[in-house]
Amino acid sequence: MRFTDFLCQKFGGKTVKIAVDAGLSCPNRAAGRGCAWCDNDAFSAAVSPRQSIREQVLAGVARVQRRQPAARNFLVYFQPGSNTFAPVEKLRALYEEALTVDGVVGVAIGTRPDCVDAEKIALLAALARRTFVQIEYGLQSVNDATLAALGRGHTVGDFSAAMRLTRARGIYIVAHLIVGLPGDTLADSVRAAAFLAAEKIDGIKIHNLHLVKNTALAERFLRDPFPLPTLDEYAATVARMLAALPDTVTEQRLCAAPRRRDQLLAPDWCWRGEEVLRRINQFRVQS
Ligand code: SF4
Repeated sequence: MRFTDFLCQKFGGKTVKIAVDAGLSCPNRAAGRGCAWCDNDAFSAAVSPRQSIREQVLAGVARVQRRQPAARNFLVYFQPGSNTFAPVEKLRALYEEALTVDGVVGVAIGTRPDCVDAEKIALLAALARRTFVQIEYGLQSVNDATLAALGRGHTVGDFSAAMRLTRARGIYIVAHLIVGLPGDTLADSVRAAAFLAAEKIDGIKIHNLHLVKNTALAERFLRDPFPLPTLDEYAATVARMLAALPDTVTEQRLCAAPRRRDQLLAPDWCWRGEEVLRRINQFRVQS
């Protein structure tokens, strides 16, 4: 199911996501490390943590309404960094501030599975009793060896532990996977989707690995190139992943590219998002 359709049904009209930057770090960066592929500047948020959350949301609403004057419902997306990586009182203030803007129907919170605990989930569960709350856990790979080799700093077991805390609390749970990481096969990605189905996720974001210049993984690729999926290999794999998930799971993203083209090292095809989605749909029809 497309997430846009889900939101439309739930809120009775078109609902637009507005990305904000709360200026939060993540356990990796706080420890002076980082996932090998990560460059927060390449995320798509056209926002700045120098503005308050309310200012960012208001600016986002104005931006959206210039293009889509009929847009009335907004979901505030805490995107860069790990947006549960702060004391509970600070998190509460950030989320509540987002909800003060007229038309905001909920929050989506991007984070890592090792960055929640019972207290933070209790905060989200309380919020979820009066608004829509989505948490997005970056799992990325179903192989601990791949996660370790790329400096992710959490395990698949951490994800399962986060799911145990979060399930059945009224919180909508989304998982992120990256297809094409060195160390993973395409069959591993299909296995990851089956694993997420068993974990009973509500939504999914699938990203093709895209190498952002000056990241550790891009530097490694330049020194010692590793295979990246072709567009068709990627599209066929995503089609198989989606087939492994129940129809009720919302598809929230099926391809990705950095914010600016000059940030991209490879693969070039990820820049052609519409073509990628078309190929995925063609493979879905065939399967
Ligand atoms: S991908 Fe996320 S967890 Fe990894 S270093 Fe970047 S912000 Fe931190």
